[in-house]
Amino acid sequence: MQSAQAADKPAPGGEPLQERRHPHGAALVPSGTVILAATPIGNTADASARLVALLEHVDIVAAEDTRRLYDLANRLGVHVNGKVIAYHDHNERNKADGLLDEVAQGASVLVVSDAGMPTINDPGLAIVRCAIERGIPVTCAPGPSAVLDALALSGLPTDRFCYEGFLPRRHAERMQRLRALRAEQRTIVFYETLHRIADSMDDLLAAFGPGRPMALCRELTKDYEEIRRGGVERIRQSVIDDPPRGELVLVIGGADDETAALETPDALGVDELAALSLKRSQSQGERIKDSIAQIVAEHPLPDGSLANRKEIYAAVLVLRDGAC
Ligand code: SAM
Repeated sequence: MQSAQAADKPAPGGEPLQERRHPHGAALVPSGTVILAATPIGNTADASARLVALLEHVDIVAAEDTRRLYDLANRLGVHVNGKVIAYHDHNERNKADGLLDEVAQGASVLVVSDAGMPTINDPGLAIVRCAIERGIPVTCAPGPSAVLDALALSGLPTDRFCYEGFLPRRHAERMQRLRALRAEQRTIVFYETLHRIADSMDDLLAAFGPGRPMALCRELTKDYEEIRRGGVERIRQSVIDDPPRGELVLVIGGADDETAALETPDALGVDELAALSLKRSQSQGERIKDSIAQIVAEHPLPDGSLANRKEIYAAVLVLRDGAC
């Protein structure tokens, strides 16, 4: 969902969008098919000729927000001739079957979200799944999506990457997710919101360290597009000094071989964690509870969560008593 509609760029003066319409637009619309279509993420001129033809000629447009659909159609100079229905996160499961009944009768149904590719943190997946189950054709008119735009502009490796959507809102869950990604060697792409960026940068620093390369990409394809590249600490400081505005994507470089080997969760069991804690407590002269806390933090479980300290404490007592 775009936050700054007003920032959308109009079509550049040199190329009236209507002239890019496909002369055989109607012929491009497959009947009896669901079509997912990407819409611009900021720059109206990124709309494809195929999107324009589809908006004009499909039987039904299922739009995340119908007002935004008409606004886009206006900017593109397209008249939407088909029926328009609201198709969003809250109703997509219920609406999918009814829409597919119409497709089964020969209708063409276009699915669009507010911006970018449907299904990518946007509605669309429910109808794709139902269509697959029912053996109904589903196709895609690809186009803008912030994931690939940010990845390509980040300057980080693009040969292997993973998309992690939005980070969890709560600190503890966010840290669990990030810990589970410490050893990830592919480039990692996150979506982020303005009101969480400062907290997320603190957590990225804690999880990946100051030097891990990253890019903060904001307002992609819009007038104020900006890419900040550098180590996590540098980008974090830039967020403090000059808080970014608009829509954001974060791209984080993957772990190098050495970091990956060090950080790969070794899934130590309770007894092993207890033995390590006891050893550390004895060699450092620390309170056992402090040693357990440190050992647990240093050895996250494979899903990034931390072992239960009470269980380890109980195992330490057994070990210690056994040793007495
Ligand atoms: N379906 C969309 C896509 O394919 O990119 C993503 C929709 S998701 C609800 C919205 C998020 O995508 C924003 O919060 C932001 O993280 C990212 N995003 C979308 N447009 C963007 C833009 N122009 N610049 C930077 N990030 C953008």
